[in-house]
Amino acid sequence: MNQSRAALAAIATLIPLAMIATVYTGRPALQDRQEQEKITVVASFYPLYEFASRVVGDRAEVSSLVPAGVEPHDWEPTAEDISRGHEADVLVINGAGFERWAEGMEAKVVANTSEGIEFNYEEGKEVGDDDHGHGYATGGGGVNPHIWLDPILAKHQTDKIRNVMASSDPANADYYNQNADRFTTELDTLDAFIRSELADCDKSDFIAFHDAFTHFSERYDLRQHSIHSASPEGEILPQTIQQIIELANEFDINIIYSEDLIDSRLADTIANEIPDGKVLVLSPIEGIGNEEQAAGIGYIDKMKQNIANLKEGLECR
Ligand SMILES: [Zn+2]
Repeated sequence: MNQSRAALAAIATLIPLAMIATVYTGRPALQDRQEQEKITVVASFYPLYEFASRVVGDRAEVSSLVPAGVEPHDWEPTAEDISRGHEADVLVINGAGFERWAEGMEAKVVANTSEGIEFNYEEGKEVGDDDHGHGYATGGGGVNPHIWLDPILAKHQTDKIRNVMASSDPANADYYNQNADRFTTELDTLDAFIRSELADCDKSDFIAFHDAFTHFSERYDLRQHSIHSASPEGEILPQTIQQIIELANEFDINIIYSEDLIDSRLADTIANEIPDGKVLVLSPIEGIGNEEQAAGIGYIDKMKQNIANLKEGLECR
């Protein structure tokens, strides 16, 4: 055997050994790995995906468990989704009972972005009776989980992600902090924009498709009523439809809000029953389809579209 063949034989022996060593030694600590591979961040559903993406920039690989454009309330993970959650370096969730399916996932680190929020808002502003707007089947302690629609609570969520990323990957902590600062500044600007857009309105009552706007309404001093309560899907009783029509008449409401990820026929039916009835979209931003994402449409754009449609319903100047 000549020298080069001997060298090749040696390499051929070493390569499988190296591979075996990688398999059996497990994964090295996050800090040691970033030279070779990026940290994997798995978000549960859309807003968390965007908030995480804004914080981690190009220093980590971010993906969403709920696919783009899919309504997350009734979504269930496949076995493959569950292993993605398990294998994530960082799992980012909304919490507050929104993604019960994520609770068993044993990622290295879980960023529960609702942790630390005090859910002490006033309940009972929804339509009339007890079968409406209460009893969250998925809510931890009956809280409303739609915190991301309040830009100030979205800042809290962003800070949670920033803190988890900075401690999981200290070498990039400054970078994560800068990105998070930039995004929270945008959220402050959005908050100021909403306040000025809604400063001079004739009405403060609106009818959402499901009560995703509880925290948003608390923040901006509006009154949310809703057709569905905890989730935009499921059966609606004829009595509930009748109550919504009566409520629209009582508050002189002529716009019924639909959502971007659901069939608008129910909203159309109700709008047809009220004077000058009309349907507009008020997106709970629970998902954004691939096409819109590819066009660069994100959370802040969706919030601005919501505000434009809300201004029409609330008759703002
Ligand atoms: Zn919802």
